[in-house]
Amino acid sequence: MRCISPAESANDNERMTAMTMDTRIALPTDTEIELAADLLKRGGLVAFPTETVYGLGGNGLLGDAVEKIFQAKGRPMDNPLILHVGDWPLTETVCTPSPLAQKLMDAFWPGPLTVLCPKTGIVPWQVTAGLPKVALRMPNHPVALRLLRRAGVPVAAPSANASGRPSPTLAVHVLTDLAGKIPLILDGGPCQIGVESTVVDVEQDQVTILRPGLVTREMLEQVTGRPVEVAESTLRPLQPGETALSPGMKHRHYAPVAKVFLVPDEDPIPRLRRCYREATAAGQRAAVMCFTEDLPALADCNPYDLGGRHHAETMAQRLFAILRQVDEAGVDVVFSAVVPPEGAGLAVMNRLGRAAEFKQVK
Ligand code: AMP
Ligand code: MG
Repeated sequence: MRCISPAESANDNERMTAMTMDTRIALPTDTEIELAADLLKRGGLVAFPTETVYGLGGNGLLGDAVEKIFQAKGRPMDNPLILHVGDWPLTETVCTPSPLAQKLMDAFWPGPLTVLCPKTGIVPWQVTAGLPKVALRMPNHPVALRLLRRAGVPVAAPSANASGRPSPTLAVHVLTDLAGKIPLILDGGPCQIGVESTVVDVEQDQVTILRPGLVTREMLEQVTGRPVEVAESTLRPLQPGETALSPGMKHRHYAPVAKVFLVPDEDPIPRLRRCYREATAAGQRAAVMCFTEDLPALADCNPYDLGGRHHAETMAQRLFAILRQVDEAGVDVVFSAVVPPEGAGLAVMNRLGRAAEFKQVK
């Protein structure tokens, strides 16, 4: 990586059709945010921090800019993107929310909730993969909000990872995956939440969680006053021929190179130890992912600390970074403790389950 000036970076962006470019990481000063907003307006890409994970932004009103996002990530074009907005008036230009959808936005924005609403005509088909609804979110992160407000356009922004890899929770994760493919990464430090937003669909008076996040079912029910459904496929692989409610669910996701296996025992220590020993004896480089409390008992099993047994929020914050560390350490196989899929635990188990392709140890 070469350090280049902001002006050079803008030029690089104009040559974005080239195969590679220099990628600059910058602290989010006013000058850099101004530059980044300008890049976005002109159809370039910028990776930026949000409270969930880092996003890879492009102008959501320009089909060409949106296509660049798919290219940089290697993302299948049938997996639609979330539009990010920094203020309320912009919301009305891209969607027509029902009263219930509006109620959810009012309750949780800015924040980690994405709401599907019927789209308006100005949203290019590339954003929604041709679907009639657009996914919309106002993130709760000072850098994201400053950037979005300066840009003044809705910004399409999936997670800023290479498609299929764990989502990035640090700027360096973005660099690892997208160096040479994007001109600018704004470095806002570690993401507080660590897993992507909750995605909900709203049909008449029914709210359905398509992707769990840290706006939990319970929190949504408090606002709607009635039961909220969770798409069944959040905790299992899609069946052959099954249509994904949210297209992202059908693609391999969040996966490290290492093979991941879930250990669903109430007390996971004995089985984690045994699996680790067997894998090591078979010549594999193994690791375990365990609760903080269990670290001493698993000290000789190459343990990674997920967080306290009852702290699903901590696990959410650490999970993707741990999956990347496991790969960097050249681990072949990792055995993981699990948490109950309730509250924030549902978001953790959705990501961990998919990283493991829902495989449990026998
Ligand atoms: P990501 O951009 O990686 O955070 O993923 C966005 C998620 O939202 C994916 O699972 C998408 O399938 C889902 N999504 C985005 N837009 C739509 C849409 N218009 N209809 C259904 N699901 C959507
Ligand atoms: Mg993603």
